[in-house]
Amino acid sequence: MTTPAQALQKYFGYSSFRHQQEAIVQQLLNKGDAMVLMPTGGGKSICYQLPAVLLGGLTIVISPLIALMKDQVDALNVTGIPAAYLNSTQSSAEQSDIIQRLRSGEIKLLYLAPERLFKSESRLTDFLKSLSVSLIAIDEAHCISHWGHDFRPEYLMLAGLKTEFPNIPVIALTATADQLTRKDILEKLNLHNPAQFVSSFNRANINYTVAPKKNSTGQLLDFLDKHKEDSGIIYCLSRQSTEDLAAQLQREGFSAEAYHAGLSNDVKARNQEAFLRDEVRIMVATIAFGMGINKSNVRYVVHMDLPRNIEGYYQETGRAGRDGLPSEALLFFSAGDAFKLQRFAQVEDNPEQTRIMLRKLDDMVQYCQLQSCRRQYLLKYFNEDFPGHCGSCDVCLSEFEKFDGTVIAQKALSAVARLKERFGMGYVIDLLRGSNSAKLREEHKQLKTYGAGADISKADWQRHLRELIQLGYLQTSQDAYPVLQLTERSDAVLKGLEKIELTLSQSTEETHQPETPP
Ligand code: ADP
Ligand code: ZN
Repeated sequence: MTTPAQALQKYFGYSSFRHQQEAIVQQLLNKGDAMVLMPTGGGKSICYQLPAVLLGGLTIVISPLIALMKDQVDALNVTGIPAAYLNSTQSSAEQSDIIQRLRSGEIKLLYLAPERLFKSESRLTDFLKSLSVSLIAIDEAHCISHWGHDFRPEYLMLAGLKTEFPNIPVIALTATADQLTRKDILEKLNLHNPAQFVSSFNRANINYTVAPKKNSTGQLLDFLDKHKEDSGIIYCLSRQSTEDLAAQLQREGFSAEAYHAGLSNDVKARNQEAFLRDEVRIMVATIAFGMGINKSNVRYVVHMDLPRNIEGYYQETGRAGRDGLPSEALLFFSAGDAFKLQRFAQVEDNPEQTRIMLRKLDDMVQYCQLQSCRRQYLLKYFNEDFPGHCGSCDVCLSEFEKFDGTVIAQKALSAVARLKERFGMGYVIDLLRGSNSAKLREEHKQLKTYGAGADISKADWQRHLRELIQLGYLQTSQDAYPVLQLTERSDAVLKGLEKIELTLSQSTEETHQPETPP
């Protein structure tokens, strides 16, 4: 019998497994369900392609990306693994041919869009059930979750998968899901006792930088001057701005094209193809561009506008440096962008979802305002510990002045303690600053800490509290309305046993976040 390692060598030419590929393959061979989180470029495909080869029967691969199915299937056929896809772009003759080959058991992997599998009038599901299906893989599994950053309603149909194919192992894969999204994926898919495989999300070869959005086009041109021969992606929020910026870059002598969902399929395909072949250096795009794009030598990803959440941002920046060489992630931040996105985050008739979207936006804003290692923050967002001081983000690379913040920390921690760890950051700051706000309860105005930090501005308090969270002296609860809580490290500070260094305020202008929309 062929072992997984032998098959890896034989079909894919790789001598060893990466990340947790081997354990994942084993889980599926043992007929268990699995959920896999691996960064973009980590090697998710092998996780189901290898079992597909080793198990008899058919593996069904669900993917939202009809445009990429052909490439994936062609690549498999080249390696000698019989694969096919069924989608609306094919003629009925082509489709019957594939049905025939499925019936004869010739095909090992079949790629399908989710709606194809469950369309009520199509009898495809019944047909597939008559075959010997041995595995179902769900790629881009975060698309099933409203909390993910790329919800696709057709993915919800996959909830019926375990009913239609009760005893067949399912593997769900994604490169982008925080805690909430992961939980949602597992629930919606009804996976049975799934083993979860979470790889390190650290992309050590990517440098992270956030710059104030002031004359960002000028800053961009300076940046591009240093990357003349390099390939890169520049993300903009609006379709119009991708076209405007691409045109401007062309005028400046750069090789650039635009990409957004409003362009015709022909233009999109042409621009994408030219970018993949290095005939065009710069792709100026909305977030419609990039999912499933496997281009190894992208040297930089620039965000001209604030992304809506960390999940999207991390996935977009993750498209840089898949070849492992040093790469840049540059983001231009302004508080004005945060307000614009706050309005986008309003989901009609769905306060719960609105709250979550706003929370995620706030996490994104916090990232931009960090005074501690950005990599540490990003990894913490995906529940991964990282010591900090990565040496390759702008914060780590700059020398921020520190001061003795022990008293400030004590005031903050004792305010949180006196509020019994039941209030959010805004409330704690109001208390510390001795606000007259009607929101503040009368009984809290009697507390000793009321007004104890009146000499510090609201913006500075925000910064200090966030730094205390980063340093592990405070934490936020994982609710839709996060409240500030103490940690096991808080006690020593409250007892005066520990000194705390905080970062001296930078120019507050750039990062100050006004409270009310302009
Ligand atoms: P993902 O879907 O996670 O973004 P892919 O499955 O496309 O990533 O894999 C990314 C790249 O890594 C591909 O070029 C793939 O061939 C390569 N790869 C995957 N597994 C291995 C391995 N074990 N050894 C070497 N290269 C691998
Ligand atoms: Zn860092």
